[in-house]
Amino acid sequence: MVDAQARVLAGLPLIPPETVSLDCAYGRVSSDDIKAILTYPPVPLSAMDGYACRSADTTRLPVCLRQIGVSRAGERFGGALQAGTCVRVFTGGMVPEGADTIAIQEDTADVGGTIEIREVAKPGAFIRRPGLDFEAGDLCVKKGRALTARDIGILAASGHFQVSVRQRPRVAILSTGDELVPPGTSPGADQIIGSNSFSLAAAVRGWGGTSLDLGIAPDRIDAIAAAAQRARQADILVTTGGASVGEHDLVQASLKTLGFVADFWRIAMRPGKPLIFGYLGDVPVLGMPGNPVSALVCAVMFVRPALRAMQGLKPAVLPFERATLADAMPANDMREDYVRAQIEVGTDGKVLVHPFKIQDGSMLMTLARADALIQRAAYAPAVQTGAEVEVIRLDGRGENL
Ligand code: AMP
Ligand code: MG
Repeated sequence: MVDAQARVLAGLPLIPPETVSLDCAYGRVSSDDIKAILTYPPVPLSAMDGYACRSADTTRLPVCLRQIGVSRAGERFGGALQAGTCVRVFTGGMVPEGADTIAIQEDTADVGGTIEIREVAKPGAFIRRPGLDFEAGDLCVKKGRALTARDIGILAASGHFQVSVRQRPRVAILSTGDELVPPGTSPGADQIIGSNSFSLAAAVRGWGGTSLDLGIAPDRIDAIAAAAQRARQADILVTTGGASVGEHDLVQASLKTLGFVADFWRIAMRPGKPLIFGYLGDVPVLGMPGNPVSALVCAVMFVRPALRAMQGLKPAVLPFERATLADAMPANDMREDYVRAQIEVGTDGKVLVHPFKIQDGSMLMTLARADALIQRAAYAPAVQTGAEVEVIRLDGRGENL
């Protein structure tokens, strides 16, 4: 599976950049190193409410200082401060020239117009020097980072209102199958609802892409090829169904009529043995199995890394965690297995994991109810209750479904 992933990632193109305003930049991937335009603080600012004064005036206490002005955020005191005087300051107000400290309000008293200072104010105390936070030219965000709320905050503060990010990869999604009808219609006698394009589109969105729905193609070479043609405007094509070896599995044959060059098909993974990868011209194609669970789990393993790579993100190591098996599991066969399971946190804080008894790849309800996938290596031996296993959490935050 890791080899198959590496083969998919090896040749993927990087999506070109575009400029977006900061209010649309959340989650987008920076295409360059981004440096601060401004310096913050631009001038020395008070970190507290109190009185700006000279620390030398506060060595013998108490001392009374004459207040000569007020400096607050948005309106500075423009003059300079002399020995024996102070300026009322509020948090964020500029510290006037001549002052080297702030006597905080709690350590002072206003006694009939003069200000009594009752504690030593050390040089530099409660003053935010210019550039304390950042200087113009400091690196705010590295290239290839999915922008967080924190990044957007620093970009805005440092003088940016737009940012260069990778375009969202456009993912064409094509469902195949004579039996499929779209959600919102009533299936006939031999029909079922095609859910894959909806679940995949949602997953793609969570992984930073946009989807282009190519609809449902019946199991006919010409029909699949005609629909797949439309993927040439996309950055990647994902198909579901028809990837296997049956007479009605025509995705690869259809793509070949368009000049598809196959890299591999089939992987030793469950769910999801039939998996096609190759290129239709410049467009990478991932042909996923039709079973809804297989399609989604394969998407986590292949579409997600592909979208990351195309956006210039480093490969993410899936967040594997250790958990304690609540039920025994039999030995595994030759296919790497991803077993749907529910998590229960015991009163002692121990994370227990319960695999679902039936793991059929068509059973979407168990995936919907699962909190995690237990990863089992090919030929893993039987494991007893209480054994430690590796799980991938399905946390519902879009990351892993
Ligand atoms: P296939 O990979 O085409 O052999 O399909 C495997 C199984 O998945 C079959 O039972 C199909 O009916 C089902 N299937 C294929 N595509 C979808 C879809 N988009 N939504 C739900 N089930 C599907
Ligand atoms: Mg089919």
